[in-house]
Amino acid sequence: MSRVMNFNAGPAALPLPALERARDEMLDFAKSGMSVMEHSHRGKEYEAVHDEAIALLRSLLGVPDDYEVLFVQGGASQLFAQIPMNLVQKGGSADYVVTGAWSEKALSEAKAAAAMLGGGVKVACSTGTGDGKEKSYVRCPLPAEVKADPQAAYLHVTSNETIHGVQFEVEPSRPFPAAPVPLVVDMSSDFLWRKVDVRRFGLLYAGAQKNIGPSGVVVVVVQKALVEKGRKDIPKIFQLRTPAENKSLYNTPPTFGIYMVRNVLSWLQGLGGLGKMEEMNRQKARRLYGAIDKNPGYFRCPVEKESRSLMNVVFRLPAEADEERFVKEAKAKGMVGLKGHRSVGGIRVSTYNAVLPEWVDALASFMEDFARKG
Ligand SMILES: *Cc1c(COP(=O)(O)O)cnc(C)c1O
Repeated sequence: MSRVMNFNAGPAALPLPALERARDEMLDFAKSGMSVMEHSHRGKEYEAVHDEAIALLRSLLGVPDDYEVLFVQGGASQLFAQIPMNLVQKGGSADYVVTGAWSEKALSEAKAAAAMLGGGVKVACSTGTGDGKEKSYVRCPLPAEVKADPQAAYLHVTSNETIHGVQFEVEPSRPFPAAPVPLVVDMSSDFLWRKVDVRRFGLLYAGAQKNIGPSGVVVVVVQKALVEKGRKDIPKIFQLRTPAENKSLYNTPPTFGIYMVRNVLSWLQGLGGLGKMEEMNRQKARRLYGAIDKNPGYFRCPVEKESRSLMNVVFRLPAEADEERFVKEAKAKGMVGLKGHRSVGGIRVSTYNAVLPEWVDALASFMEDFARKG
């Protein structure tokens, strides 16, 4: 067996022990004579997995009792529409901070959803420069740049822009905006690699496939009071109270995805939890940005220092032809997933929890060699 060093942005690398556990339990889960996928979602075998995944999320993240932990399907993209459907009232509005491609998408879906239900959305701040598809994003705003409406239903922020490599609160000078209304945060590529104080947020959500499992599951952590305020004139399947009132078992959940989330989180806890994880992730990012900054004539990170992402490290080489050669030669050394998103080009290195420090070290050494040879 030969596994590669996987730097994919999402779906992304999963911890080997979580995959091995799935392999070992595949044909005969909990001595039941079948795989976990073949179990009823109402049976005790699956229910134990479901409950354990929720309990692990609660303990790793320190979720307070007045918050729900929900599993939702449809990807983080579905939440882009589902959140305004629940929380923007008729005649009301919500505010959006736009710092890259994902917040643009969240805004655009929210516009459509709110308009359909008699509400609206506003941009409280955008850091984009340039026009249309070419818009460039290289920073998070300072708190004072965000003009949040105290009447808004919530303020939406994308904590880490997976495509542009821009992340909030890596440096103390770029905290999440202080809003007079609930903060709603897309944490898809920023989830469970460091401690956060859940009380600062009204709602946070994350697609599992970046950092905690396979695609098909979204985790939503939401204040119970917000769930209760949610609109009741939208289809039941989109109301957040539906999973909240049914332990995310209203209809059939993505059972295998949740099972994999359980495996990943149980690995994370065994490793020492979020404190340990943050230490490792900061070290990995330091190694990579170090290799970039030591070769300023060759590598260039477009993102301002205070906003550089620790999860998705983006950079350019002198020419596109060099970038193509870089990706190709890295692949020959067993390092894959380095091509930047098709909309922005360049190189992107995703360094989520499952990406081992040794891989990052190998890549940084390769970068240094590559720059030296030119
Ligand atoms: C990947 C990603 C999404 C979209 O996730 P899907 O599960 O494909 O809908 C949304 N927001 C961010 C920040 C992402 O990285």
